[in-house]
Amino acid sequence: MSEIRRGLLNIWRLVAPYAWGTIGVVALTGLCFYWQVHSTTAALLYLTVIVPTALKAGRAPSAFVAVLAYLCLDSFFTAPLFRPAMNQPLDVAAPVAFLTTAFVVNRLATNNRRSFREIQTLKDQLRLVMDTIPGLVWSEAPDGSVEFLNQRWRDFLGATPTAAMDLQQRLPVHPAEAAALTEQWRQARQTARPLETEVRVRRADGVYRRLRLHLVPACEPSGTVVKWYGLGTDVEDWRQAEEALSRLQDELTQVARRTLLGELAASIAHEINQPLSAIVTNAAACRRWLTAQPPNLDEVRATVESIIQDSHRAANIITRIRAMFQCTEPMQMQFDIQQAVIEVIRLVKDELTEQGVALQTHFAPNLPPVFGDRIQCQQVLLNLLTNALDAVRPVTERPREIQLHIQPYDTDQVLVTVQDNGVGLEGVNVRALFDAFYTTKPGGMGMGLAISRSIVENHGGRLWAAANAGPGARFQFTLPTQPGRP
Ligand code: ADP
Repeated sequence: MSEIRRGLLNIWRLVAPYAWGTIGVVALTGLCFYWQVHSTTAALLYLTVIVPTALKAGRAPSAFVAVLAYLCLDSFFTAPLFRPAMNQPLDVAAPVAFLTTAFVVNRLATNNRRSFREIQTLKDQLRLVMDTIPGLVWSEAPDGSVEFLNQRWRDFLGATPTAAMDLQQRLPVHPAEAAALTEQWRQARQTARPLETEVRVRRADGVYRRLRLHLVPACEPSGTVVKWYGLGTDVEDWRQAEEALSRLQDELTQVARRTLLGELAASIAHEINQPLSAIVTNAAACRRWLTAQPPNLDEVRATVESIIQDSHRAANIITRIRAMFQCTEPMQMQFDIQQAVIEVIRLVKDELTEQGVALQTHFAPNLPPVFGDRIQCQQVLLNLLTNALDAVRPVTERPREIQLHIQPYDTDQVLVTVQDNGVGLEGVNVRALFDAFYTTKPGGMGMGLAISRSIVENHGGRLWAAANAGPGARFQFTLPTQPGRP
């Protein structure tokens, strides 16, 4: 049944333009004949049927209506009546004019329809791109009223097409950032400058997400802003990953620092042991001098002086270790680099002796004090010395040596060099040397150099490595002698 109906419908679609055209021409002929209008007027009136047919229907129906109109014009309005004959100029002009009009109008209408379809297709494609692009796209009029929001924005805000149109007033920015954003927005509009900012905006599900908003003006050649185009990117996941990474880096730095210190715990204990045993020995001597008859007060005074000095030494070592473990904020101050280096050498003294390593120090005279965090700078040196000790450990065919130089560098820096005659940098990826986790040691963590470089660079200095002309490698770093370089 529905097949027959569909067939009939198709036939009707085909014949309808002919039928409507015929009805129009017949009705017009009847009216014009009844009122006995002039042939020229009738010809013009026929155009009112021919033109819409040409506009709406195809070329064939409009040609059919044009011929029909001509036949009616010839039969009912020009002599001889009721019979077509070609004996007046209008008999030739009318069919030509009708057919040409039908053809031209139809052509124009077809072109128009095609252009319209193309524009529609382009619009659909553009909308598809706008809605699927992974970003929140919008446009605003110069007065700030939103003209377009893509689907992702609407989904983000959970807005219906109309409700979303007053984006600026309704944008659910985090209360802590709303005032700042309004001000930025106002300034951008006032100066016609692009705006780039990051704010937390509440999503439809109630969760605040960090969005990076980028708004640019579109200007006329005169400079007048005609529109603003915006792109928002949800950077929440990215920021969270960044924060997690930074937390992880901090934790690793702590771990590396502790591991490093753990390895040196024995020598530190030994270092503290030294002043403590000296204190005990001196205290016993004091008691002897006091119980002597008569008590030798001069010796007692001298020994007590030594006890005080040793106590200070032990206390200093403990303070330094505590500061390292507590990871206190960097303390910017002026300090004597030579003294700081000597203290670090003390920490590795035992290991130097154990391995039979000769440490030579070359300190330039009159070194200026350097500026920075004393403990952190000591940690860098400790890392380099520990690495140098590791590098000379496998050496058996020559005496093991480490040289430590401190000298002025440029006008406002000091250069510290740790040079060893160990295994050298062959087989080491020099580019990755300062990367976190790069290690060639079986139990290594690969954090020492990475931490050292970041400490030195935070101080405004530089840390680098080079192979020696002979065996071994040297690591050098600079430290500023003036504040305010980082
Ligand atoms: P780790 O000591 O845990 O390996 P580092 O970051 O301190 O971590 O060192 C990274 C790598 O740099 C070492 O594994 C080693 O290959 C190389 N390296 C560091 N210092 C020296 C040195 N003095 N001589 C040769 N290679 C070195």
